[in-house]
Amino acid sequence: MANMQMNKTPMPEQEPNVRNANFQEVALGYTMEQAQNEAQRCLNCKNKPCVSGCPVGIPIPDFIAKVAEGDLAAAYQLLSDANALPAISGRVCPQETQCEGKCIRGIKGEPVSIGRIERFVADWAAANGIANVATAPKNGHKVAVIGSGPAGLTCAGELARMGYDVSVFEAFHTPGGVLSYGIPEFRLPKAIVKREVENLQKMGVDIELNMVIGKVLTITELFDMGYEAVFIGSGAGLPMFMKIPGESLVGVYSANEYLTRINLMKAYKPDAETPILHSKKVAVVGGGNVAMDAARCAKRLGADVHIVYRRSEAELPARAEEVHHAKEEGIVFDLLTNPVSIEGDEKGHVQSITCVKMELGEPDASGRRRPVVIEGSEFKMEVDAVIMALGTQANQMSYGDTPGLEKTRKGCVAADENGCTSCTGIFAGGDAATGAATVILAMGAGKSAAKSIDQYIKSKG
Ligand code: FAD
Ligand code: SF4
Repeated sequence: MANMQMNKTPMPEQEPNVRNANFQEVALGYTMEQAQNEAQRCLNCKNKPCVSGCPVGIPIPDFIAKVAEGDLAAAYQLLSDANALPAISGRVCPQETQCEGKCIRGIKGEPVSIGRIERFVADWAAANGIANVATAPKNGHKVAVIGSGPAGLTCAGELARMGYDVSVFEAFHTPGGVLSYGIPEFRLPKAIVKREVENLQKMGVDIELNMVIGKVLTITELFDMGYEAVFIGSGAGLPMFMKIPGESLVGVYSANEYLTRINLMKAYKPDAETPILHSKKVAVVGGGNVAMDAARCAKRLGADVHIVYRRSEAELPARAEEVHHAKEEGIVFDLLTNPVSIEGDEKGHVQSITCVKMELGEPDASGRRRPVVIEGSEFKMEVDAVIMALGTQANQMSYGDTPGLEKTRKGCVAADENGCTSCTGIFAGGDAATGAATVILAMGAGKSAAKSIDQYIKSKG
């Protein structure tokens, strides 16, 4: 008999007023008892609607049933056969719009907390020294993967499992893509990213760091080196700005730069060599997950933080959980507010930001109500830093001139849903092909591309 408790089993977390001054993980994870209680809420539905919402096809009710029975080794085997990075996706995947969004229990109450159970199982395996690193015997074929974000890592893991020799070429000195440089330590500890990358290395995946493909080696040179296929998973790290006066003042950051300094270059640590402004008051412009991450980092560095967003709370694109956490931590939301200029002092340092108030008009092409300026509503807020979190575009690759490799109008690699481009042997996926998506969609794209690469290489004989 299933546990008919209406709400999710709560996950213990650090107190808001404690965690907003440290970079340790906010959510503390389930105990065995809590995980089993939550697992018993699953109805083991015959048609498995939750699985249809999972881009990597995890057999959700099956692994959850094993948790309910207390057989965590079997649960981990089922989970990790389908998902190369379970401790990561259990933490940062937007489950509310994926598997949990389809869960039957969500109709009259809260859905089963699939993400929290996934995280519990992955952490249990790591704590017990268990890793699913079995691979098929080597098949003698070589594949190159560009980029070590979730798309590249998943593609590499899937291919290694099939017996391919896989080399991942990463531009940075650390693997992980956004998982390492973007998502903060307090949401996704870097030790966990390292652990999941090490599991791939145990499967034989070779990771070459400080390798900017297009500069150090071209795609043509990769083929000359004997790689039979190349997967492009180079992400979307190119920040956007508003094109308002004052954006070149000292103290204006793109969220990507701000987060890279803090997460990848560890600027939050007292002994770090990377400089970061310890501001008194920060305006973070934008309302997505990236804005929440930048705001919560600035708060932890001691600032009074305001999110400036031009629509209302209902349109905030960030996950509801991130908005909730940010509010609990004392971040102020200036909604229906839009910056028009940034002003500096005589030394060129940010001094204030001028904004206008907005109201919502008719829906625009995105279906969301269009924000309209309220005349005469201009006001100034004194700040010493402004972080622009307005979204990103696909990284502009210098290998775009590879013969036959096409780009879309938005500068992404033109690939179909299976990761295939029009040119022989080159595949693409994740943010490189979509502009910007989510971790689990990037992983799904990496997994589909691995299947396409396998078919392509087999078809060559
Ligand atoms: P990336 O993760 O961007 O990885 C691409 C990698 O390719 C990078 O390591 C880059 O250095 C490397 N690279 C680029 N060019 C080259 C080259 N020429 N040669 C070699 N290497 C190259 N999604 C969620 O689902 N949940 C979240 O909570 C969430 N939070 C986010 C927070 C932030 C701050 C950001 C920026 C994004 C967030 N996202 C989140 C989105 C998610 O992280 C991305 O959609 C996902 O990481 C895309 O994966 P990817 O592998 O395509 O690209
Ligand atoms: Fe369990 Fe929800 Fe999936 Fe049904 S839809 S099998 S209740 S997780």
